[in-house]
Amino acid sequence: MSIITRFDPWRNKLCTCPPKYTINPYTGCSHSCLYCYATSYIKRNKSTPKRDLLSRLIRDINKIKPNLPIDMSLSSDPYPPEEREIRLTRKVLEIILPLGFKVQITTKSDLYVLDIDLISSYNVAVSETITTLDNSLARKLEINAPSPINRLRALETLKANNVPFSVRIDPIIPFLNDEEEELRELVRTVARIGARHIVTSTYKARPNNFRRLINAFPELEKKLHKLYYPKGKMKFGYAYLPISLRKKLLFPIIDEAKKLNITYATCREGLVEKDFFRTPSCDSTHLIPEKVPIKTIKTLVTLEEFLK
Ligand code: SF4
Repeated sequence: MSIITRFDPWRNKLCTCPPKYTINPYTGCSHSCLYCYATSYIKRNKSTPKRDLLSRLIRDINKIKPNLPIDMSLSSDPYPPEEREIRLTRKVLEIILPLGFKVQITTKSDLYVLDIDLISSYNVAVSETITTLDNSLARKLEINAPSPINRLRALETLKANNVPFSVRIDPIIPFLNDEEEELRELVRTVARIGARHIVTSTYKARPNNFRRLINAFPELEKKLHKLYYPKGKMKFGYAYLPISLRKKLLFPIIDEAKKLNITYATCREGLVEKDFFRTPSCDSTHLIPEKVPIKTIKTLVTLEEFLK
């Protein structure tokens, strides 16, 4: 089975991502975010290294189109707490980066600073998710992920090392992280550090993530249920908030990005008009720099070279 696959967001037609590959060094995710969408498809909630990852990776890199970016990762975090010991993501980077592949690290962690030597030398951009600046709310929502302050510190390290980065303010959940002035302050904070692009979206309910949210915030059950079920709309297996409410929740983030003159996009909202979407790529892969050229297929590594 391929380890580098074409990104296919479960055939969701609202996805505006440009063509790209994705690789997940781990299966499952130890961050245990309450709102995680991946748990509808992948049942494990601990990050487990993929079996035979490196040999499968080396087989696949001889087959993929070298001009398309590789997003790492989209259904698990490439920097879960386990990465500190296992260093599997680092091994993947050590293989693909010197070959000139363009890589976006999509994460909710700060651990990528351990790899700043690699990240700053090759074709890498980082997309960091920060849903709130409120540490206690983040601790409840993203149980095992680093605190917002630690993620901000990691962004400062990227800035100091000239690595481009975007920030995902995603998802916005009614009654939890939707306070307008706090969202505006979050955009201003990450822009001050050097974020060049903002992606945002509202929370879309799936039965299992909705249950986790309600268990953690039982006082919100009735209010959230009313917004998502009688009033909301099902799209591609997800319950969406009413469109007018989605626009209202996302507006402060977009408006602040506009004022700061940084690019912005919404994710799987169907809001592609320029009021909500002004960017060369919604997922920020356009930020990936070209520091080293891609090697031709002939010079790509062989399995034997890497395994000896
Ligand atoms: S970091 Fe991403 S994949 Fe991991 S639990 Fe959170 S939302 Fe899910």
